Amino acid sequence: MRDFTLDIYRELLETLQRKGYELISYQEYLRNPGTPESRKSDKFVILRHDVDLKAGNSLKTAQIEKSLDAKATYYFRIIPESNRPEVIRAIAALGHEIGYHYEDMSVCKGDVDKAYDHFKTWLEYFRQYYAVETICMHGAPTSKWDGKDLWKKFDYKELGVVGEPYLDTDWSDVFYLTDTGRCWDGYKVSVRDKIPGYQDEWTKKGLSWHTTQELIEAIGQGALPKHMMITTHPQRWTNNRGEWWKELVLQNTKNIVKRIWIRN
Ligand SMILES: [Zn+2]
Repeated sequence: MRDFTLDIYRELLETLQRKGYELISYQEYLRNPGTPESRKSDKFVILRHDVDLKAGNSLKTAQIEKSLDAKATYYFRIIPESNRPEVIRAIAALGHEIGYHYEDMSVCKGDVDKAYDHFKTWLEYFRQYYAVETICMHGAPTSKWDGKDLWKKFDYKELGVVGEPYLDTDWSDVFYLTDTGRCWDGYKVSVRDKIPGYQDEWTKKGLSWHTTQELIEAIGQGALPKHMMITTHPQRWTNNRGEWWKELVLQNTKNIVKRIWIRN
């Protein structure tokens, strides 16, 4: 079976549900981070999607999730490849959470005051479609600036934002998986999309898989922690063969570049 298709994505979610994981949005996690009686199961997975490109693909994963009665969070960027109003509206209408995938520090070239104004403007923009409560950094590896630096000077909570996955998740309790690098062990080459301080511990425990098939098998064997966040980039999940090959070749090239970069 080819990896990173919509079919295998559905299988991943179905396997999680079969093993008793509740599939929730980031907003739902923040409202109820523990596992009190109010939650259906003592196991949960926060489904996070960073819509970096090809917004149309995210409508497909959103529909799969809806059909399984799962909730997810979709973070949208301001660029036209991500910011497509009709897609944002459709995903919100399916009952998912919408958030802002911010990169204001890069856009404003590190000018933190300008970046904060820019952030506020775009937060209001996305609030036309959904009452945005959570935001998430877009961690472009090629950018000199770390988007989170904005929060060294300003406080998003003053803007009614309740959380940022990198900053408000209890990583001592929640295990993190991401498809960055088009695999599940891309933390080895990732520049920003990782959880420093915890990743080494997880790797030592053997919580590391390369393909989605391997991950699905491990879930089936009950090898995964009870609380997790899974981040995917819907641009790479497709059943379309042409698009699938393009993504494979592009990502392999990117991984080689990133590996050289990290080594130096
Ligand atoms: Zn991103």
